[in-house]
Amino acid sequence: MQIDTDLIAALDIVEDVKRVSEPYKKANRKFHPEDTVIEVGNVRIGDGSLVMMAGPCSVETESQVVEVAHAVKASGAQMLRGGAFKPRTSPYAFQGLGQEGLRLLSLAKAETGLPIVTEMMDASQFEYFDDVDVIQVGARNMQNFDLLKVLGAQDKPVLLKRGMSATYQEWLMSAEYIMSKGNKNVILCERGIRTFETHIRNTLDLAAVPALKQITHLPIVIDPSHATGRSDLVPPMALAAIAAGADGLLIEVHNDPARALCDGPQSLDPEQFDVLAGQLRSMHDLMNTMEV
Ligand code: PEP
Ligand code: MN
Repeated sequence: MQIDTDLIAALDIVEDVKRVSEPYKKANRKFHPEDTVIEVGNVRIGDGSLVMMAGPCSVETESQVVEVAHAVKASGAQMLRGGAFKPRTSPYAFQGLGQEGLRLLSLAKAETGLPIVTEMMDASQFEYFDDVDVIQVGARNMQNFDLLKVLGAQDKPVLLKRGMSATYQEWLMSAEYIMSKGNKNVILCERGIRTFETHIRNTLDLAAVPALKQITHLPIVIDPSHATGRSDLVPPMALAAIAAGADGLLIEVHNDPARALCDGPQSLDPEQFDVLAGQLRSMHDLMNTMEV
């Protein structure tokens, strides 16, 4: 049935009528023209500032995570990332320290004051996440609808990674699952998608940043580490992400990448991260001077 919008607009109590064909409503910019700004302690994501979330792929030991936390903080990162529950392709690979990993992240947070972002793989882990500031949903779980519903019914911000072969609409519908349960604090994270190219771990879809900004008000961050799988490709892609208008970055940093239990080849060491953080600030300043 075709609804006559003129007829509805003519009603006294109606100010404006918009036809919305997209199935995502709460994430849709048409219903919410202002950018969503998400507050994590005194960090604001989506307000035009540059947010750097950095840390190891996996929490391994107390000294590792505390050392990396201090280093990335000194370089200007505002949040500490680190995996405790790890989704690994092989059941024989290191699966993360689980609850113990969360305890070590809390220690690093207490030492540095950096808020924590870490992945929840299953809603049954929720009870351990009290001290976690941002809950990550991994690429493999983007369409774990039961997990999304549980995260929608609580109020911690959720970093929602794009599934490996998810369209923008599928990704936004996953955000919608969270938002429709009441939690409006969703941060989108592009981490590379699966294409026919095999030379690089994944294909970073940077056009997602300006394209999504048109259709959604949610902030978007880029993860150049999983997108490329190679530490030498992380700096150019991180800089390009800021040029494209990303609200932040999620970057893997390890104090000894060669011995990392997970994702060493894509991890920057603290010195490399320090150089990149300075370059990112320069790029962010440059973009602020331009009308784009
Ligand atoms: C991670 O951030 O460590 C991770 C496993 O990411 P993804 O879900 O993007 O593979
Ligand atoms: Mn990783």
